[in-house]
Amino acid sequence: TTVHSKSIMDQTERYGAKNYHPLPIVISEAEGVWVKDPEGNRYMDMLSAYSAVNQGHRHPKLIEALKKQADRVTLTSRAFHNDQLAPFYKKVSELTGKDMVLPMNTGAEAVETAIKTIRRWAYDKKGIPEGKAEIIACEGNFHGRTMTAVSLSSDEENKRNFGPGLPGIKLIPYGDLEALKQAITPNTAGFLLEPIQGEAGIVIPPEGFLKEAYDVCKKENVLFVADEIQSGLGRSGKMFACDWEDVKPDMYILGKALGGGVMPISCVAADQGVLGVFTPGSHGSTFGGNPLACAVSIASLEVIEEEKLAERSLKLGQYFQDRLKEIDNPAIKEVRGKGLFVGVELSEPARPYCEKLKEEGLLCKETHETVIRFAPPLVISEEDLEWAIEKISNVLSNV
Ligand code: PLP
Repeated sequence: TTVHSKSIMDQTERYGAKNYHPLPIVISEAEGVWVKDPEGNRYMDMLSAYSAVNQGHRHPKLIEALKKQADRVTLTSRAFHNDQLAPFYKKVSELTGKDMVLPMNTGAEAVETAIKTIRRWAYDKKGIPEGKAEIIACEGNFHGRTMTAVSLSSDEENKRNFGPGLPGIKLIPYGDLEALKQAITPNTAGFLLEPIQGEAGIVIPPEGFLKEAYDVCKKENVLFVADEIQSGLGRSGKMFACDWEDVKPDMYILGKALGGGVMPISCVAADQGVLGVFTPGSHGSTFGGNPLACAVSIASLEVIEEEKLAERSLKLGQYFQDRLKEIDNPAIKEVRGKGLFVGVELSEPARPYCEKLKEEGLLCKETHETVIRFAPPLVISEEDLEWAIEKISNVLSNV
């Protein structure tokens, strides 16, 4: 007998902390771009678990890697070597062009790792006086939910009553080169940014900003650190969103699709001169670099390459955005994005549209009240995208 959606949602409400406000749908099965509820209704997933499922739900190659590794060894801790970590390192190193990799589990932990790296580098390499290192981040950022990430945030609800936060952080308006120049002091160690701000509503910096900001950082001996957790791994129509301006950041922060929606795995990648600051005992994680996640991650990256998901995102994303721009509704202020990383900004709340779309069989989620984010798995077929465009056009022009 099936447990029905209503009772599952009631129990979730009853026992769970209320730190999320999910749409009223229970997903009990998924494949590719499609998910099902316990009643058997089918929906298209246009959120992809915040871009963690770029490869599509339960990609056969990932499930195969998972099962194969599950039959061998799943966890060793880093007290011992395992045989999946080195090939994972090699894969990430080749993909990013960086010498070294440090594995973690969640995005927020990789951000923590990046901040620790920046600070250690500040003292060990740049010669900033102990305790004085400054990090510049951007207003509107989202780097996760740990105290460090919360300390970086400018969003009041992210921060309220969680203080005191981490010191040594300065915020500048996103995409403001002059503000970046002004904010840099001899104690500035790093500039941390999302090359496209995801949670802020798919916000793209002014053209040329990434390159110019990178050049400023080079000139001032400041590390340019790109949080590509959401924007990377094909989502924006390039392997990394930094590729849009041919910028090779000093450090990449990766997560989400690194595990293909199958295993949580994240990492930072940088050259020896940066990531070489870590010594035994200075950082780590029990599950970081576990063989199960590494095996899945290698397969996740292979799928992105073999199925040319970045190219696919670019081509389908352009078409999708063009079609969205044709929708006639005065409440639509802007359609923006790169590849299949698309935001529709409204002059009114986005939630009712998301609820209506759900009734039509299409799942997406508002971000920041007035933006609908569309980010389907990058494996989406032309036919399925056409189906989605039809639904979206109907809902957005008839509310
Ligand atoms: N950084 C960015 C840019 C993100 O989009 C997210 C998640 O949405 C995170 C960090 C945090 O990742 P996690 O939720 O895995 O901790």
